[in-house]
Amino acid sequence: MIIVLKKEAQKKQIDYIIEKIAGLGLKPLYMPGTEKIVIGAIGDERVLRSLNLESLPCVEQVVPILKPYKAVSREFKQEDTIVEVRGQSIGGNKFTMIAGPCAIESEEQFLATATALRAQGINFLRGGAYKPRTSPYSFTGLEEKGLEILKRVAEKTGMLTVTEVVDTMDIPVVSEHADILQIGARNMHNFRLLKKIGQTQKPVVLKRGLAATIEEFLLAAEYIVSEGNPRVILCERGIRTFETATRNTFDINAVPLLKQITHLPVIGDPSHGSGKRSLILPLTKAIVAAGGDGALIETHISPETALSDGEQQLNMAEFKRLLDEVTPLAQLCGKTIN
Ligand code: PEP
Ligand code: MN
Repeated sequence: MIIVLKKEAQKKQIDYIIEKIAGLGLKPLYMPGTEKIVIGAIGDERVLRSLNLESLPCVEQVVPILKPYKAVSREFKQEDTIVEVRGQSIGGNKFTMIAGPCAIESEEQFLATATALRAQGINFLRGGAYKPRTSPYSFTGLEEKGLEILKRVAEKTGMLTVTEVVDTMDIPVVSEHADILQIGARNMHNFRLLKKIGQTQKPVVLKRGLAATIEEFLLAAEYIVSEGNPRVILCERGIRTFETATRNTFDINAVPLLKQITHLPVIGDPSHGSGKRSLILPLTKAIVAAGGDGALIETHISPETALSDGEQQLNMAEFKRLLDEVTPLAQLCGKTIN
């Protein structure tokens, strides 16, 4: 529910409403704007009826949120959320390129890839230390040693880092080593992980589950935001369909649809979305044209030797070409690449 207050509402009236909402077991969210003051009440709205908020003199309007997801909906907050990360931002008029290898394989591989990306003006570096793989016999990542490499390379290159966290137990160590946490597709339904990350203030890239509907995706984001962490970036990464010609079916519909129904930034991952190197450039253009806020692109200094996802990683020349072609398109769509 959204409670819109009159401009002249006093602090003690605001505090009274917030206290009442909390007293009924809902989460109050105070959102002072330039035009109006809004208080959100997250949870089962029915219990609020007893408060009869409409009758309070400072209240202009009480608006129920009809969607099952509340805090992430555009009904709740009309302006785009912009996630600030150490001097850079994701969302708004930026198109954020997050590039780097599927996995951190060694200090040499990761540093060489990062240095080459940095030379192309890239600020956001990805790389998995904990790799959730379909087979337990595949390379499952360097884990803590990988996190240490991530941090050292970030310090050397001045880049901002994104890496996946797969277990609640690892949240502190991953948070200490990375700027942005990633929740992978396989963990989108891991509600304990979502809640625990919601209790931090770390920016989060939340990937869409392999078979998640848009509503389930947004409810997963709601788990994080309703716990108190609004710094969520949604990532469409393809869903599983009957089609086997590509690794996943990149759901381009999701990008403009999500932009309409949620205020959170929306990025796309054409690497996992297609699994095919030759499709990464056209799909990245599609994400830009669809109004997306960024792309997560797997890049490797030598994809032919990669320990995971080699067939979908771009080498540095391919990535440069992508950047050269996407930059003017992004500008045409009112975005600057960061
Ligand atoms: C990844 O981005 O490293 C990854 C494993 O992707 P997903 O969770 O989308 O499969
Ligand atoms: Mn990968």
